[in-house]
Formats: sequence, structure tokens, C-alpha cells
Amino acid sequence: MELDLQPLNLPGVDDSKRPIVIAGPCSAETEEQVMNTARQLAANGIKIMRAGIWKPRTKPGGFEGVGEVGLPWLRRAHDELGLLTATEVANAAHVKAALEHGIDILWIGARTTANPFAMQEIADALKGHDVPVLVKNPVNPDLELWIGGLQRINNAGIKRLACIHRGFSSYDKRIYRNLPMWHIPIELRRRIPHLPMFGDPSHIGGQRDLIAPLAQQAMDLGFDGLIIESHCNPDAAWSDAKQQVTPDILDFILDKLTIRESVETTESLEALRKQIDQVDDQILELLAKRMRISREIGTYKKEHNLTVVQTVRYSEILEKRGAQGSLCGMTSSFIRDIFEHIHEESVAQQIEIMNK
Ligand code: PEP
Ligand code: MN
Repeated sequence: MELDLQPLNLPGVDDSKRPIVIAGPCSAETEEQVMNTARQLAANGIKIMRAGIWKPRTKPGGFEGVGEVGLPWLRRAHDELGLLTATEVANAAHVKAALEHGIDILWIGARTTANPFAMQEIADALKGHDVPVLVKNPVNPDLELWIGGLQRINNAGIKRLACIHRGFSSYDKRIYRNLPMWHIPIELRRRIPHLPMFGDPSHIGGQRDLIAPLAQQAMDLGFDGLIIESHCNPDAAWSDAKQQVTPDILDFILDKLTIRESVETTESLEALRKQIDQVDDQILELLAKRMRISREIGTYKKEHNLTVVQTVRYSEILEKRGAQGSLCGMTSSFIRDIFEHIHEESVAQQIEIMNK
């Protein structure tokens, strides 16, 4: 896959040093909050400040951003503190307003990337401008849609392009607000190796405690940068309060990161191994989930006085999966073996429940 890319070339930012850090509040709230946060970030060596001006909200009635009045606040942070500024754009009017106010970097949010009409509208509005654009992954785990969005922006002549991995939403929320599904950004890197990649541990984790480990993981996977939400008074933030940290905590988190150099020649091998590790993690998680369901079935069978092994069901699983396996390019005997083992463990777990 070829995109016509140029280095991000951000004034005052040494992009050969990982991570390139973008930090700032989820939303610009007041001029005072923007400037207060900006001063602290700048004092800690941060060069690029983020702040949402227009906020896409799941339900109406939430804080939808201050809108255009907030753009001069960001410009002030730029002029007084030398910070580069970044904000989210979701339509042509946003692009126009942000560029008119001299915003340095634009990003496209996850809900927007998922919508090709919106992406095309933004791409058209960007034609003729030379501004770095960061495209977040779509909310759903669809790599092609993410790449399609990047292509639309690139086709509009934007060569200073990067992507942001912010995780994927799922119905079954557990630890993460948005599942990282690391194999997806890893595959994107494999396909478009020179596209700079930022990790967004704030939106993946959804809580402060997860920022450090997720940022470290992004660094270990060779990401180029991080975008992290930081607010002068996180608990009082008007949006995403739980996942924001003060500029000083951010500084502490960044200071603790271990940045490993990846050796050029083995980079692709490493990337593939990481991909295998991620897939193995998923296999384990799915097996654990299958066993949980199986134990529930055990309880049901116990309550209804049914036998554990029901042979018709068992043969059906082996036949069906064996045939499916060969369609997917594996031998059916290999898949049957695996499912025999899974079934064996499942039966053992059910027997334990029935004899409790
Ligand atoms: C944000 O960056 O504040 C934001 C709205 O993120 P996302 O598009 O990843 O949900
Ligand atoms: Mn946010």
C-alpha cells in the first residue's frame, strides 16, 4: 500500500526522538483552563498541545465543546508559549475555522473516521492546504476503513499524515474503555511502514492508572508518538475527567517510559512476533470465555438433571469445525484435535460443577 507521505516536520519538534508527545485537555473549557494547562505543559517541555473545541458526544446534552470561541485561546497558547496546537475537526466548517485561527495540527476523531462521507468532506476542505493531519482509528475494528480514511486525506494532497491508535469500542467493556486490539495497528504499520503512528493511552484505557502501561506498550511496539490527555484540574474536567492527569503526573509518566531502540534489520520479524503474541493473547481470552460459558451450561444441566456429554452436540461441533478448518487453509484433523481437547477440558469443568 502506497501513500504519498512526507515527514511531519513539526517546527521545534525533534521527530527523530521517540515519543513525539502531544498533550492537553480533552476539551478546551475556558481561556483560563487552556492557558493554565498550557503554561504547565510548556514548563515541563511539552511542545504540542491538544484540546478539543468541538466534541462528538454519544448522547445529546453532554458538553459538546465551546466551539469557535475557543480557537483564539489555543492561538494564545501558541503565541505566548510557543506551543504547537492541535484540535479535532469533524466537518468542512471545522477545518476552515481551525485553519483560519492558525491551528497547527488537525486530528480526525474515531467517530468521524468511521464515516466515509465525513472523511471525504474533510478531505475536500483540506485541498490546497499544507497542514499535518492525524487520523484516529475508526470506532469499529476495521483496518480497511482506517486506511480508506487515510487515503482520502492523502488524495487531497495532505502528505504530512499520521495515524492515532485509540482502541476500538466493544459492547463487552472490561478493563479498557476501548479495546487496544494491538494486532490492528501492527498490521497497519506492516502495510504502511512510513506512516507515523501515535498511541492514545487515554482513550484506550479510559482511566488514569492505565495511561503508563499503555504508553509503555505503544513504545515497545515501536510507535512514534503519544497523545495524552492532561488537564490543570483533571477531576473538574468537563469531559473525560477519569482519564486525565495533571501536567506534572504526565511528566512523571513520560519520565518513567523505557524507550527501546528497534534494530532496523529485525524490525519486521519483531513486528510479526508481536503480532503472534497478540493473537495468542486473544486465543487465550476466547478460550477462557468459552470455559465460562461452558460452566454456566454445567449449572443449567445440573439444575435440569441432564447428562454432561450429549454426543449429538459433540459430533456436530467436531464435524462443523473440522470442515470449517479446511476451508480456512488448515487440515481438518488439526482442527478436530484442537476441538477434542477443548471439549475435554469443558467436560471436566462441567463435571466439577455438577458434583459440587
Ligand atoms: C478526543 O480525543 O478527545 C476524542 C474525542 O477522541 P476519540 O475520537 O478517540 O473518541
Ligand atoms: Mn477525550
